[in-house]
Amino acid sequence: MGAARDDLYERALGAYLGFAVGDALGATVEFMTPGEIQHAYGMHRDMIGGGWLKLKPGQVTDDTQMALALGQSLIDSGGWNPRAAADAFVEWLKSKPVDVGNTCRRGIQRYMADGSLAGPPNEGDGGNGACMRNLPLALATLDDDAGFARATLEQCHLTHCHPLSDAATLALGNMTRRLLRGGGFRACRQEVNQLIAAHPAFRFDPYPGRASGYIVDTVQTVLHHFFHTDGFESCVTAVVNRGEDADTTGALAGMLAGAAYGAADIPYYWRKKLDRDVRARIEIQTGALLSLAQAQSEQEITI
Ligand code: MN
Ligand code: MN
Repeated sequence: MGAARDDLYERALGAYLGFAVGDALGATVEFMTPGEIQHAYGMHRDMIGGGWLKLKPGQVTDDTQMALALGQSLIDSGGWNPRAAADAFVEWLKSKPVDVGNTCRRGIQRYMADGSLAGPPNEGDGGNGACMRNLPLALATLDDDAGFARATLEQCHLTHCHPLSDAATLALGNMTRRLLRGGGFRACRQEVNQLIAAHPAFRFDPYPGRASGYIVDTVQTVLHHFFHTDGFESCVTAVVNRGEDADTTGALAGMLAGAAYGAADIPYYWRKKLDRDVRARIEIQTGALLSLAQAQSEQEITI
């Protein structure tokens, strides 16, 4: 039991740290084309900051900050509470973050204006902003499939109301949960097959080659490289060198690869560069979110 729990923690930490590492590495080349990256860096693999946001080495962006805000709201509320999550996003927006996605900003401002927890369905909400920040919910509902699905849709709809955003967020979250529960690549493939059966737009074989913030491009890039590499470093490096929305594709690829290979497979020179405060918050949240999941499953057994 103790060893199994240590192993779970190691892979959950891998997912969360891997997510932040992918964000910090990818941000350097966000909005560049693969050709521009090649010209500037050869292969981009050093956590040097810079980029259009002029970051410090190891600094993360909105992707990791919104995930941390969501994670803290789950911990403080003892589970999913949409209003607490929305309030956490408001606080984050007021903190003058280094970057904010347009759809995220619009959704948070709608909540500030009228207190509503969802906007109407919107063709323009097909960006990856809801999907990118959902990892804490996957951890907090690790053994509760229905609870994960219900909370995830509410979490998405705070800012994004779009069927492809919903489907992708559920699928990537379920892949991560299955990896953490020990299902391996086979279980991941089942989730992907279900996603593609319901929404053929996500087919990624042959890989169409776009890595933009549109949720379909993002998911195709993440899945293609996740299934065609065999370790954390090769997966995340390949993804961020596709450019475009490289911090977010890097973060989501880092999440899956970290869950698959564990924290120990994240190169030390990336981990040590990662913003210290972010790393510390991730370590604390990972334990607290897994404890939430465990408390919930023990409660169900008692009932
Ligand atoms: Mn970002
Ligand atoms: Mn991005």
